[in-house]
Amino acid sequence: MLIDLTHPITPRIPVYFPWHPATEVTQTANYEEHRCIVTAITIGTHTGTHIDAPRHVLEGGRGIDEYDTRLWMLEAFVCDLSPREAQKGITADELQSLPIPRGSAVILKTGWDARFGDAEYYKTYPPLTNDAAEYLVQLGVPLIAADTPYTLDVHYIFLKKGIPLVTNLNNTSKLSEGNVMLISAPLLIEHGDGAPARVFALVEGVS
Ligand SMILES: [Zn+2]
Repeated sequence: MLIDLTHPITPRIPVYFPWHPATEVTQTANYEEHRCIVTAITIGTHTGTHIDAPRHVLEGGRGIDEYDTRLWMLEAFVCDLSPREAQKGITADELQSLPIPRGSAVILKTGWDARFGDAEYYKTYPPLTNDAAEYLVQLGVPLIAADTPYTLDVHYIFLKKGIPLVTNLNNTSKLSEGNVMLISAPLLIEHGDGAPARVFALVEGVS
């Protein structure tokens, strides 16, 4: 079964800091005049469900368009950390107690996707701690995904190593702990520091 892990793009999609642009979805043609409709979309590269590339925080770093496409479909281990208290950091100890296969991508499920759109989402999410991020780097994760944002420190820890961050997943309640195939498809933006993405989990044995 294919599970859609993407938040829809709408004009109501929340953004974090003021330097992230507001999302706009505007119709620029109409059926009466043009016999078709067309829509202009304004969206930040770090809005909604999206993927961060090293260039986001490292000058001259790799762009989202410079990855081997094999990275966008790979085995991932779902770490079920839900339900989760607000702001309760995800620690290295917690992750060490889970059977994450070496070299597998990781999906952090906290349940915070249900709060996406709340004004407090960016202030209350349970963050991956620096120690836990370092542990995942040591485990050889090729990619990290979560139903939350990440701290700026954690961005640096992964992006310094070229490991992309899949951010603000949706529907993680439909995932159970264990292995899935993670399909992450960022828009192919030339030299992109990040890009909105459509993300799916392919789960075997579930229909
Ligand atoms: Zn981002």
